[in-house]
Amino acid sequence: MTALKLYNTFSREKEDFKPLNPPLVGMYVCGPTVYNSVHLGNCRTFVSFDILFRYLLHLGYKVRYVRNITDAGHLESDADEGEDKIAKKARLEQLEPMEIVQRYTIDFHKVLDQFNNLPPSIEPTATGHIMEQIEMTEKILQNGYAYETDDAIYFNVEKLAKQFPYGKLSGRNLEDLYNNTRELDGQEAKKGKLDFALLIKAKPTHIMQWSSPWGRIFPGWHLECSAMSSKYLGEEFDIHGGGMDLVPTHHTNEIAQNVACCGKSPARYWVHTNMLTVNGQKMSKSLGNSFLPAELFSGNHKLLEKGYSPMSVRFFMLQAHYRSTLDFSNEALQAAEKAFVRLMAAVKILPSLKTGASTSSNISALKNSVYEALNDDLNTPVALAHLFDGVRIINTVNDGKETITEEDKQLLVKLFNEIIFDVFGLKEELQENKNLDGVMKTILEIRAEAKAKKDFVTADKIRNELLENGIQIKDGKEGATWSFTL
Ligand code: AMP
Ligand code: ZN
Repeated sequence: MTALKLYNTFSREKEDFKPLNPPLVGMYVCGPTVYNSVHLGNCRTFVSFDILFRYLLHLGYKVRYVRNITDAGHLESDADEGEDKIAKKARLEQLEPMEIVQRYTIDFHKVLDQFNNLPPSIEPTATGHIMEQIEMTEKILQNGYAYETDDAIYFNVEKLAKQFPYGKLSGRNLEDLYNNTRELDGQEAKKGKLDFALLIKAKPTHIMQWSSPWGRIFPGWHLECSAMSSKYLGEEFDIHGGGMDLVPTHHTNEIAQNVACCGKSPARYWVHTNMLTVNGQKMSKSLGNSFLPAELFSGNHKLLEKGYSPMSVRFFMLQAHYRSTLDFSNEALQAAEKAFVRLMAAVKILPSLKTGASTSSNISALKNSVYEALNDDLNTPVALAHLFDGVRIINTVNDGKETITEEDKQLLVKLFNEIIFDVFGLKEELQENKNLDGVMKTILEIRAEAKAKKDFVTADKIRNELLENGIQIKDGKEGATWSFTL
């Protein structure tokens, strides 16, 4: 079987995944800025990394998964302008910044729990690591890659760019970056327009501030991730991830900080997820096209025709490769909902399949195809398509049209359990299935009564309409039974 390959944003190639110190894997994923609820787009990124985390565990690695909480330092604009998002919300709502942080950290955990994400191994906060950020700034200053002004300690991008390809992560050279950045505007203290703040000097009115060798400061956004990743995973570690929108600024500057501080680019594999879009546009709070997972589950939002369960949404996310955009639509979610129910129905009947002397389909080949897809840069849509070949086999064996040996059946049981539950992190949504069982019992009774009264028009109407909705009825000696169509 092939080994796991991951697409590395830095090299722009799919590379064999070889951890620095196997079986240990160090993985750092940029976490949320906790000043409001995460929207479905943010969840897509965290679900994608949960699947990578789960797959690495499944392959036998011991993963130290660090995902930070940004509870200070993320300004409204990436160009070191505007207010700190958390301080602003605290000011507007007349709350302690830590009340904002607490509220939205709890909310974030609750949402990811609903999606059945595993918790990371360490979840450090920016405010809990101010000392580490100060120490890193001192080293960068000592190494000559930063300078102090009246308003901040700035990173000198031009100086670093003489020795290191700053911008390589986003595939841009310095000239491109220069031409695409606007002129300094009210920030003349910066030497170069690509320079960014490591630490920002706090005005007396700034709510969150700390003591430092340069007076009262608060951190810049990029520094926290460099400080926390090197503290918990070392100066060089295996995987660093986040959404693709972090590539041009946040991750580019993280690399610059680590190189200037320690002479090393921190991560060996840079993994980025693509955006969840709505009508082709990135889902984003500022564009007004975002909705919250709670709205998605209840259906209570103008973009939603109905509510969707967390597992159908997770399934919907699995249907796209993590590096492709995923466009939200009610039709796509409804198709995902049906397919998820069909998958779970097959999982349910699999253990009780009757076995025979031979197998009509090649189960080992099916298993290999699933792993080939996952090892090919975590191609979940292709892996799912192969699992649906398995669903077809399960249903045809159940219908008595194909056979399976006990050995092959056990292979399929193991494959389905491990990939669907352990790796994809799906789980049965008992309540819904229970409700459906109850509803179907009533419908079948009404149909039986219609048949008894020789009202075949109604009986056929029920059968045909259910069939259109993916449910087939079979009449047997002991009454009618129902199952999902293939
Ligand atoms: P933030 O709290 O804005 O820093 O975002 C948290 C994570 O969500 C980051 O990794 C972003 O790249 C990611 N993200 C933001 N918007 C989207 C989106 N529409 N689709 C997928 N990921 C997103
Ligand atoms: Zn980060």
